[in-house]
Amino acid sequence: MTERRFAGKAVFVTGAGSGIGRATALAFASEGADVVLADIDAVGNDESARLAAEHGGRAVAIRCDVSSSSDIRNAIERTVEEFGRLDIAFNNAGIEQPAAPLVDIEEDEWTRLIDIDLRSAFLCMKYQIPAMLENGGGSIVNTSSGAGVIGIRGQAAYVAAKHGLIGLTKSAALDYADQGIRVNAVCPGIIETPMMDRFSGGTPEGRARVIGQEPVGRMGTAAEIASAVLWLSSDLGSFATGHAMVIDGGQTVGL
Ligand code: NAD
Repeated sequence: MTERRFAGKAVFVTGAGSGIGRATALAFASEGADVVLADIDAVGNDESARLAAEHGGRAVAIRCDVSSSSDIRNAIERTVEEFGRLDIAFNNAGIEQPAAPLVDIEEDEWTRLIDIDLRSAFLCMKYQIPAMLENGGGSIVNTSSGAGVIGIRGQAAYVAAKHGLIGLTKSAALDYADQGIRVNAVCPGIIETPMMDRFSGGTPEGRARVIGQEPVGRMGTAAEIASAVLWLSSDLGSFATGHAMVIDGGQTVGL
């Protein structure tokens, strides 16, 4: 029988319409959580909510652009209206950067990437933490990346955002450690999702090129990231805070 570690918990997931966010929302739902799914892509998000509801829990899809402060505030207010509380958040929405040396990154491209991949987590936490404190605490996981712990040629904006997420996570963890809120990050390696398809070009050569960076010789699955997020969010992870958990098949270990 499936464990139900999250029965009675209200969970908020961004980027829930695809990839890692969808897999994690479904994993929470399958363990009894009520889930709010937030994504800018209403079609993918509605489909994720339909799949989550098949697991029996309540699932609410909210269209939310994480670069918009008012969208985030409204989505979190609606979570509390729908479920009466907020216990767990997975701030995961993100976009990739087209490969380019720093000088060729346009200023508005930089701003958009930082807004979606970094500022969004600040805004999410700014509105999630007060809601969690209403019930004595909670758990937050932010999606960083292997790009949060190493430099990558041609990826200055993405790498800056993902490094920034780890700093943000550590500082938020310290700010609220004595108030029952744990804040951690996951740093996925090369994970088989639509984002990775776009990044690799989806061709056999492109896939072989990215798999070549993985000592384990394959891409990770979104479910393998979801299981780490659930561990960090569960009572099993109760002493973990401020941690950036690298789950990358060894990609960054030997560098
Ligand atoms: P994905 O493209 O499959 O899913 C990302 C989701 O975020 C999509 O549903 C998209 O609509 C949503 N999104 C994009 N912009 C948004 C916005 N402004 N507001 C709300 N939602 C928005 O990608 P994924 O691979 O599942 O990536 C999820 C996270 O994991 C991202 O933060 C990404 O940087 C990170 N990550 C992915 C990998 C990988 O190999 N796939 C590796 C490391 C980190």
